Amino acid sequence: MEQLKNYINGELTEPVSKTYLDNYEPATGEVYSQLPDSDERDVRLAFGAAKNAFESWSTTPLENRMMILMKMADGIEKRMDEFVAAESKDNGKPKKLSRAVDIPRAVSNFRFYASALQHFASESHQMPGVGINYTLRQPIGVVGCISPWNLPLYLFSWKIAPALATGNCVVAKPSEITPYTAYLLSQVCIEAGLPKGVLNIVHGLGNKVGQAIVEHEGIKAISFTGGTETGKRIASVAAPMFKKLSLELGGKNPTIIFTDCDIEETVKQVVTSSFSNQGEICLCGSRIFIEKSIYAKFKEAFVARVQSLKVGDPNNDDSNMGAIVSLQHKQKILSYIRLAEEEGGKILCGGNELKLDGRCANGYFIEPTIIEGLDYKCRTNQEEIFGPVVTLTPFENEEEVLMMANSVKYGLSATIWTNDLKRAHRVAEKVEAGIVWINSWLVRDLRTPFGGVKASGVGREGGWEAMRFFTEAKNVFIKS
Ligand code: NAD
Repeated sequence: MEQLKNYINGELTEPVSKTYLDNYEPATGEVYSQLPDSDERDVRLAFGAAKNAFESWSTTPLENRMMILMKMADGIEKRMDEFVAAESKDNGKPKKLSRAVDIPRAVSNFRFYASALQHFASESHQMPGVGINYTLRQPIGVVGCISPWNLPLYLFSWKIAPALATGNCVVAKPSEITPYTAYLLSQVCIEAGLPKGVLNIVHGLGNKVGQAIVEHEGIKAISFTGGTETGKRIASVAAPMFKKLSLELGGKNPTIIFTDCDIEETVKQVVTSSFSNQGEICLCGSRIFIEKSIYAKFKEAFVARVQSLKVGDPNNDDSNMGAIVSLQHKQKILSYIRLAEEEGGKILCGGNELKLDGRCANGYFIEPTIIEGLDYKCRTNQEEIFGPVVTLTPFENEEEVLMMANSVKYGLSATIWTNDLKRAHRVAEKVEAGIVWINSWLVRDLRTPFGGVKASGVGREGGWEAMRFFTEAKNVFIKS
């Protein structure tokens, strides 16, 4: 059985404990590799390596730093097929999705921040006749990056790239549920000539490795993406230590559909925004609000289109949806579907797990599920399910839909479907979310701020926001 390794001080290493955890392929339910069961001892080694590397990395000429990040991007791109297959095998997502989205976007993340580091500038503020202030933007030192399983390499690189670009050294932990592409990335780092200790990847469990990163006194900033409960736990440890914190957390995103939308196009796009990656994207819309006058028409077309989605082997090009990431997560999603029924919901399509034949007979598959007839306040409509489950709710007017959309504790993203420009602006302004798409979904410009409000997080990633997060501002005044 293949055993993945940690990447510490430029080398692929065994965990200090010499013990490993099983890594499952969700499409088959079988263990296919093992990952290090690391602990705080590995984190300490990683920190030591990062600390030693900091002086040199933080003073490396920008052009050299840029070239290494570009080489990392090239290194992933050169091994595209291998990365694509690994991401799909580890996570259960269709291979065609990791080829179209996950891996190319990881490549873009490194290229984007390689370029950004050459253009990043800090402010100066002149006081006529008094003097001038200039602001230094200095790297923080050693920072921690912790990421989830749903878009494994994409979100891992989204943190690591700006952290390295700004001159920090990193102790990073990918999700224990999807460690493989982070392991491949460590091989790419070695091939690209990333100096020893600049990036360290420690595999293992959240409550051991993640916790040790968050608790480490020398790690001065934590960039975390994952669940809201985990974010809360991290904040409770890191905040009293005065660490800089960026928390990208859960969501329960509204999809708001007005009568004047282009209905055919909206149905098509909303199927994608609901069920891409088996609904396991933090930005997927899971509460679909439809203006009453088109409710019946939209519902009919939407259900028909969802019924035609093919759930199948992630390796097959005709699979629209693959496997749920783990057995535990599959059970969680199914329990929410049962809860929806108890709460009075009517299942319009799906609602069950799916048994496939052949290679995937023991995989974790769930039918895309649409539920109607639920109160907007019920648990199904308030809690994050993070799977292929959406609810349909009719609304009378703008005021009512905003009240329902904003009724949840989350505030990550929202989509609005309308051809009335003024209405689009009005609703976008009032909906409680960090990211709003109008007549579209998941269009990403890496320069834009990315993050949520309320229980969906604190801080923003993307563009200059990430460059600012990973630097400390120091103002210097000179008297004239
Ligand atoms: P999770 O919170 O269980 O785990 C995320 C990471 O945190 C993993 O690497 C895990 O090992 C680690 N971790 C767990 N406990 C820890 C602890 N005590 N200290 C430090 N680290 C710890 O989340 P998940 O199940 O992997 O991912 C799904 C969640 O992520 C969903 O809620 C989803 O909405 C959210 N998510 C948010 C965004 C966003 O940008 N806002 C993006 C993707 C996913």
